[in-house]
Amino acid sequence: MWISRWRPRRGRAVAAAAALASGLAATAVALVIAPGANAATGCQVTYTPNSWPGGFTANIRVSGGDQALNGWTVTWSYAGDQRITNGWNATVSQSGTSVTATNMSYNGNVAANSATEFGVQGTYSSSNPTPTAFAVNGVACNGATPTTAGPVTSAPVTTRGPVTSAPVTTAGPVTSAPVTSAGPVTSAPVTSAPVTTGTPVGCAGASICDGFEGLAAGTPSGAWSIQNPNCSGSGSATIDTTTARSGSKSLKVNGAAGYCNHVFVQSATALTGNTWYARFYVRHTTALPTSHVTFLAMRDTADGNRDLRMGGQNSKLQWNRESDDATLPAQSPAGVAQSVDLPTNTWTCVEFMVSGANGQMQTWVNGSDVPGLREDMVSTQDIDGQWVSSRPSWRPALSNFRIGWESYGEGADTLWYDDVAVGSSRIGC
Ligand code: CA
Repeated sequence: MWISRWRPRRGRAVAAAAALASGLAATAVALVIAPGANAATGCQVTYTPNSWPGGFTANIRVSGGDQALNGWTVTWSYAGDQRITNGWNATVSQSGTSVTATNMSYNGNVAANSATEFGVQGTYSSSNPTPTAFAVNGVACNGATPTTAGPVTSAPVTTRGPVTSAPVTTAGPVTSAPVTSAGPVTSAPVTSAPVTTGTPVGCAGASICDGFEGLAAGTPSGAWSIQNPNCSGSGSATIDTTTARSGSKSLKVNGAAGYCNHVFVQSATALTGNTWYARFYVRHTTALPTSHVTFLAMRDTADGNRDLRMGGQNSKLQWNRESDDATLPAQSPAGVAQSVDLPTNTWTCVEFMVSGANGQMQTWVNGSDVPGLREDMVSTQDIDGQWVSSRPSWRPALSNFRIGWESYGEGADTLWYDDVAVGSSRIGC
């Protein structure tokens, strides 16, 4: 079901066609003006997979050889039943077995004898052979004869130029990206003594503030109600009296694997305003899986009522925008490395800010800013490149607040939530 949520950007087809035309023209000129020179090195594409049963990621390096690239579209076909579910540092679409990857705004220009990299993530059922035939802007690469569409497994890649030593274009250090709207980040969050009264801290001015002490054990009622957004299965949510961060009660979610086992508990209080700060404590039992999961969702009425979702992927926390499946950070190894995991069997304080005024986001775990979960509407490779480039004018209008569990095939977890608060200013831990 995860795959069906991924939507190819068909609009890229026009750009790809233009890039194809310009790439062919550039190649023709090069052949005319460089007679007698050393043998030209054509485009190079190397595809490095990392596979596991049923899934894979692949890092793809692209170079124009001794020709600079001013915009690139890389195409290849899968011989197996691979289906791409995600990409980073490129806009990737798949039609049948054919895959098209087009540069982002920040990595389209690749100097001669340089390279840039992008990646894909996918699933397969029967086989996952590594593709060997690639084209850049319609020109076959890796020494293939341009008019031949067949595989080029015998082409000696190492003779095609210094691709492996070429610098990879990057967007610079991400840690310097300022977040201008997040308020004074230096203001330390409130660190409270352990709450024993059941009254969460930070509730002054908050529209939602609940330690679940006032709710009867069992099925949530009153201020919270169970939502099964797509179909109802074995997922469940109850007011629990066995584990609490404050007082004696919390919200327990038994989240099962499988699309139909989605379960959320929604606050009866609608979100208003245009800047939202949330703070919640979560304690869970199973480390975040490789697959995409969601444990918090908020409806965005400015985005077709699709959800802005917090969850995990590749074992780290991430944000996901349901409408276009953009992720924060990008699910590249460099992006994932700038997020954090969600510790198990301990209460973790998670805070975030989402601005509908300027589309920026910031996230804190136990009071510390998470660089990979910071989105400042300035496209930064591996962080918010896909998020910003896909929707440069994204301005969320969040209308509800749900916590629970949603997987898209794999990933089960038991979670407790407590001391949940949403307001218009930072609440602190
Ligand atoms: Ca409580």
